[in-house]
Parts: sequence; structure tokens; C-alpha cells
Amino acid sequence: MKVIEKYNDSLHNPYWKYQLGPEAYEVKDTPKRVESIKKSLHSDEQFQFLTAKPFPERFITRLHPYHDYIKNTALSLQNDEEEFYPDLFPGEGAHLRKKSDSPLWGGIWCTDAVTPIKRKTYEVARASAETALTGAELIRDGLEKTVYALCRPSGHHAGPRVFGGYCYFNNVATAAEYLLPEGKVAIVDIDYHHGNGTQEFFDEIKSVFTASIHGAPDDEYPYFWGYADEKGKGQAVGTNYNEPLPKGTQLEQYSAALDRIFSEIRKFNPAYLIIAAGFDTHEMDPIGGFKLRTEDYFAIGKQFQSLGIPTLVCQEGGYNIDVLGECVKNFLLGLI
Ligand SMILES: [Zn+2]
Repeated sequence: MKVIEKYNDSLHNPYWKYQLGPEAYEVKDTPKRVESIKKSLHSDEQFQFLTAKPFPERFITRLHPYHDYIKNTALSLQNDEEEFYPDLFPGEGAHLRKKSDSPLWGGIWCTDAVTPIKRKTYEVARASAETALTGAELIRDGLEKTVYALCRPSGHHAGPRVFGGYCYFNNVATAAEYLLPEGKVAIVDIDYHHGNGTQEFFDEIKSVFTASIHGAPDDEYPYFWGYADEKGKGQAVGTNYNEPLPKGTQLEQYSAALDRIFSEIRKFNPAYLIIAAGFDTHEMDPIGGFKLRTEDYFAIGKQFQSLGIPTLVCQEGGYNIDVLGECVKNFLLGLI
């Protein structure tokens, strides 16, 4: 299996700690996450590493209206340590007459005040999208049946209007858009958090089926999306499917929910499958609430393999670096 990677800069390393009611959360999107994955995959000769190739900027700008805002803000920073967080949120109805790609206007483009832009952020976010695009190209050209794109930062919370939740450009949406001229695409998001950005991208597009299996949003991020009654809009009603699951979910319950998603996918009959693969569903993840074990990911990968569709896997979350690499490896071995 080909593993696509690119740029993993230690200067993009967001860290976020917060208390919500009785629960404390600590999120670290560090380059060590990628190192953990690479170390595990290097130990098995079935994985061959490839560097992602550059793609023209238009592959990213056409989906992300905040592209220039992120780029310009990163370029405006004076040193590697500086971080920029939006702190002005004009809300709906505001008269937006100023130059919207200046740093001050971050509140138009970002949903929260915890997704920093650093000097390297644009470069790593773009490289992450190019990693997904390179994988998509291999699948599209029929050169590979299954490809793993080692993306960092994640992308699934970045949507067609706004970014946030540690995500800048939506990697799976970018890959799906690239594949779409060749056939229908199904996206299954298995990160612990609902893939709200991805869902919103394709809410009204009937040639893309989006599904997400995640911690119930009643008390988990992203809170305002991910409920079972969100089924797509307009001509695309029926092409979105959510499986919110309770805290403490184990493999049996999880696999049953995946089976329900798969029966929808078989009906949809896509040419390509993209998996937004987060591993914060692991029992030892610092922010996830499920109880999946390291070995369970092999079974989950095997379950996906039964679909028999050309598949691109894009890395999303997963924050316990002691187990992340092995979880990814088990999942990919199950998938092939
Ligand atoms: Zn997550």
C-alpha cells in the first residue's frame, strides 16, 4: 500500500486545554503524531512511502473561500512563535465592507478562537491537502486500489463557509471534488468527532454520499451538527447519514452502526470511497469517549475492505501518540 506524506513542520503545533463542566480536555496536534504513525508503518514492508506532489492553488481555493485569509494572515506574522487567533466575530447581518482577507476579519472565516494561525500554518495546511490530492490521483488513475494519505493538520471540521476545530482546509472534500468528474464518491468519517465541514460541503450535492460515525453531539464537539436527522438537503436528501453513538461505545455496537452505513453505501453504489480516518475513538485517547481497543481497528479495516471500492484513507484526529501508530497500522492492514 502506498503511504503519501509531505511536510510535517514542528512549528505548526497547536495546543488547546479547556474545562467543560466536569470534563477536562487537552488537545495537542503535534508533529509527534505523524512520527508515531510513520514509525509503525515503517516496521512493515507492505507500506511504501511516497512524497506528495504539488498541485495548483486552484484545487484548494475553489473549495475554500477563506484560503487567502489563511495565507495572508500566516504571511503577516513576524516570527515562528507568533500565533494569531480571531477575536472579533461580527455575526450574521454585519455589513462586511472591509477587506475580508485581512487578519482582523478572522471572525468571518473561523468558527472558534482556538484554531491558531502561525507562520507555517498555510504551508502545512496546503501540504496536507496536496497529500490527499496525490492519493486521489493514484486512485483515479487506477494505479492503486487503496492509498493512505498521512494528512496533518486534519480537515473534516473545515467547511465551505468557515474553518475551525484545528482544521484549515478540508482534505477529504478536496480529494472528493477531484475524483467527482470520474464518478460518484462516498465519504465515511470515522473520527470520534462528527465531520461537520465535510457534511456541509456536500449537503446539497447528490453525487457525493457523506456518512459519519461519532460521539453524539449532545455533549461532544462540534455540538451543532451530527444528529441522525441531518439527511442532506434539496435534491440531495438521502445522501447524508449520521450515526451518533453514546460514550463508552465498544466494537460490537460500533461495527453494527458501520454495517448500517455500509448498506446505504451499497445502495448509493459509488465509484470511489474516501475514509476520514480519526483514531480518537481509542479507549486511551485523551479527548475521545469510545472504548475501542488497538486490535479492534484491524476488524474495522476488514469491514471496510468488504465494500470492495477503490479507497483513499485520509488521516484525521487521534491524540494518544503511544497508540496512534499501531491503530493506524492495524486499520490499514485490515483494509488490505
Ligand atoms: Zn476528532
